[in-house]
Amino acid sequence: MTAPLHAQPDQSAALLSNVFHQMDAALLLLDEAGIITLSNPAAERLLGIGGDVLCGHHISTVLLCEAKAMASGGLQPECPSQARDLLTLFDAGLMPGNGLPREWVVADRDGSRHMVSISASPLVQGNATGHVLVIQDLTEVKRMQQLLHRQHALFANGPMVAFSCSPAQPHEVQEVSPNVAEILGYFPEDILLDPLWWQQRLHPDDQAALADGRWRLAQSEGFATCRYRFLHGSGRWCWLEEHVQLLPGDVVQGYWIDVSKQVEGEDRLAKIASNIPGMLFMYTINPYGVGQFVYVSEGVRNLFGISPQQAKDNAELVAQRIFPDDLQRVREEGEAALRYHLPWICEFRILLPDGRMIWVEGRATPELQDDQSVRWHGLISEITQRKRTEEALRESQERLDMAMRGANIGLWDWHVALGKLDFNQQLVNMLGYDYHTLHDNPAQWQALVHHEDLPTVRHNIRALLKRDASQYRIEYRVIRRSGEVIWVLDKGQATEVDGNGNVCRIVGTVQDITTHKQAQRLLEDSEAHFRMLFQNHGAVMILIDPEKGCIVDANPSAERFYGYSRQELVGMALGRINQMAEERIHGTIGVALLQAHNHFTFTHRLASGELRTVDVHSSPVESGGRTLLFSIIHDITARREAEEALATLQRQLLAIIEHFHGAMLLEDQSGEVVLVNHQYCEMFMPDLTPEQLKQENRLRVAARAASCFAHPQQLLQRMEELQQTRQVALGEEWALKDGRMLERDHVPIYVEGRLRSVLWVYRDITSRKQQEETLRQLATTDALTGIANRRSFMEKLADEFARFQRFSNPVAVLMLDIDHFKRVNDTWGHAVGDKVLHDFAALCQQVVRKVDVVGRLGGEEFAVLLPGCGMAGALALAERLRESVRSHVIQVGGASLQVRTSIGVSSFARSQQDASVALALADQALYEAKLAGRDQVRAFDGNGQHFPPSS
Ligand code: GH3
Ligand code: MG
Ligand code: MG
Repeated sequence: MTAPLHAQPDQSAALLSNVFHQMDAALLLLDEAGIITLSNPAAERLLGIGGDVLCGHHISTVLLCEAKAMASGGLQPECPSQARDLLTLFDAGLMPGNGLPREWVVADRDGSRHMVSISASPLVQGNATGHVLVIQDLTEVKRMQQLLHRQHALFANGPMVAFSCSPAQPHEVQEVSPNVAEILGYFPEDILLDPLWWQQRLHPDDQAALADGRWRLAQSEGFATCRYRFLHGSGRWCWLEEHVQLLPGDVVQGYWIDVSKQVEGEDRLAKIASNIPGMLFMYTINPYGVGQFVYVSEGVRNLFGISPQQAKDNAELVAQRIFPDDLQRVREEGEAALRYHLPWICEFRILLPDGRMIWVEGRATPELQDDQSVRWHGLISEITQRKRTEEALRESQERLDMAMRGANIGLWDWHVALGKLDFNQQLVNMLGYDYHTLHDNPAQWQALVHHEDLPTVRHNIRALLKRDASQYRIEYRVIRRSGEVIWVLDKGQATEVDGNGNVCRIVGTVQDITTHKQAQRLLEDSEAHFRMLFQNHGAVMILIDPEKGCIVDANPSAERFYGYSRQELVGMALGRINQMAEERIHGTIGVALLQAHNHFTFTHRLASGELRTVDVHSSPVESGGRTLLFSIIHDITARREAEEALATLQRQLLAIIEHFHGAMLLEDQSGEVVLVNHQYCEMFMPDLTPEQLKQENRLRVAARAASCFAHPQQLLQRMEELQQTRQVALGEEWALKDGRMLERDHVPIYVEGRLRSVLWVYRDITSRKQQEETLRQLATTDALTGIANRRSFMEKLADEFARFQRFSNPVAVLMLDIDHFKRVNDTWGHAVGDKVLHDFAALCQQVVRKVDVVGRLGGEEFAVLLPGCGMAGALALAERLRESVRSHVIQVGGASLQVRTSIGVSSFARSQQDASVALALADQALYEAKLAGRDQVRAFDGNGQHFPPSS
């Protein structure tokens, strides 16, 4: 066994060891048996086995690694024959020249292929022998060689000129392929000799483009592409496309392609594209379905609001702009086009970033490429305007159609040269003829026109044909198939003229205006009626121009009323007759026009200057195509005056009622209270006001009032009675509970034979009643004595005689006369005489019964009426009277005085004619008593016989 190589420590060994460890190539030291004794890091990296593990293994186990042992590292020849060769070599002992230094293709444990060269050299140190095995990985070199080889082959005949330079001096070409002479017109020698060759031939404008080229290669990912103009050997500018790559070994390798043609093409395309309204595009979809724009023209900015570069970078940006509702359809139609090899034509909407929506039409043709990708060439152009126009046209056509159908408008189209007449269904319906009758024979149309109107129709059509006119508008009568005559409005227009200037097409519309014509005639009739009415009506009528505020027309009644002639009235401003301010007149006209209000009261001034109050009815009327105000004027001055007088009267009446001395209540025919005055309330219901009583029911008010009366039931009963009979009842007297006396009138008020209301009036007559009583007493009583006076006594005597005549009850009469009364007067004076008379009367009253009547017939003569008293009773009473007088002492200022009386007695009898007879008989008896010496009683019975009869 020899000692391992690294066991020899000296200076050179250290250097060797350093190189051994630093080397790129894999180094393995083998002993003479082929066992690995030492390895460097490169060997360990290549084999994938750590140094500790490597040592002690036979070389064949790591270089001829079996598949199953690969996990622990090593290399395996790709080709079984090579493996066998290696094994043979190892078995035979590694001898130089035994074919080892050849290239082997091996795989490492990751399966990566490596091209390796293996060489072995014998190593003898002292007594130890062995080999140093060098394994060089040629993979990268080989790849580069292949690449270079291929490039050279490519460049030799291809369109690309290969070149190289150093990154430090990017403008200095170091190598160039020989085809440069052919492609750029320069010999390689010229180029390589002149370090500034390339830079000098660059177009000045494209220096900037190169910033992305060779100069910035270091910062980029090792590749760069740029385009610039370059001076061709022939002296013209050509476009070069430069592709450069930074290769290991600090070499910039690149190639140029003359893309002048392409640029020119693209330029032309861009120019075309910029002139094509829309966006040209080339779009590819790779086999995996990923799409990308290869080319997009500037038009994408307008259509999609993005730049061509943005579209190219991200095709999705374009899709995002498509209106969501349309996106699915756009895609489906694209797929269908591809599947059936048809062009893709699709209209869709795009939402622009500014919110606008536009319509576009896309057209593209798919092309299936060799690599199964699909390339679309297409154009997208805006059709918003077209869409709008289409839409507008469609709508307008629909509207027109609808209008024609709605208005029943017939449409005809006469191809003059062809002799054909086209028309719509409306016209067929209108005329009642079928389509073909007229279509094939336009002249037939004239046969339908009413003969009276035919000349006009012919004249107008001829004028069109002769081009005297471009259109006409005529109304005429047409006879329907049914024979019915209708009025039509025909509007014709020449629409086409041929090269010779002949009208070859006329179109027109026909409208059935029969109803309109009838209405027009009715209107004409009604206007005539109106005029007649206007002219002959007794009412004042004027027509007003609402805009000018002046009179347009006035009828004869208006002339008479205002005192102006029609000529003066027509054109007259309303302000001359209407007393209102100008603005108010205009305001009122506006109100009348709107028909918000059409009844007004104004003051009008007549020509004479007199002012009249007028009622005006104004309403708008259509006349001659404009709106006028038709006003009817009524002079209400007299009515107004009467109304005012009535109102005054009413006020006066109310005042009278209010100030009437008595309570008043007016009820209507239904029994509701219409009016009461304050006095009524004060009298019966002081807690209420007249207002509160209004609208009250009569019965309730009456009941309330009745409670104040002494006999409420009778009162109500009487009221009910009056209510039934409705008779006037005046001056009924009713006593109140408090003793006052009321007089009541009940007055039903009839207007034109109908009961309208009932008036109840209550007057307080208490004081009047008292006065009457006083007067009555004064009239019947003797003032001095307080007994009945002569008239009163005589009345009672007559009453009693009347009763006697009916019932025959006995009635006696006494006549009394004071004896020698003159002496009393003479002795004591007249005043004492009066006192005597007063006391005498009082004495008589005391003696007689209650029912008896004592009266003073005059002077000192008295009489007594004794109802129910016979002669005997009367005689006895007379005696009692005489005795009482005789015994009565009258005190006069300390002195005493006595008088005597003579009395005559008589009575009523059947034989007597009247009451005075008995009185006369009594007077006669009195006379006898006087004669008999005074202070006596004498009597005659009713028949004039002494009583008691003297024997
Ligand atoms: P006789 O009747 O007895 O024959 O006598 P005589 O004195 O009563 O006479 P005569 O009847 O003629 O007189 C009545 C007198 O009474 C006359 C008159 O002066 C007086 N006399 C009449 N009325 C009144 C009166 O009212 N007052 C007073 N004092 N005297 C009156
Ligand atoms: Mg006498
Ligand atoms: Mg006497």
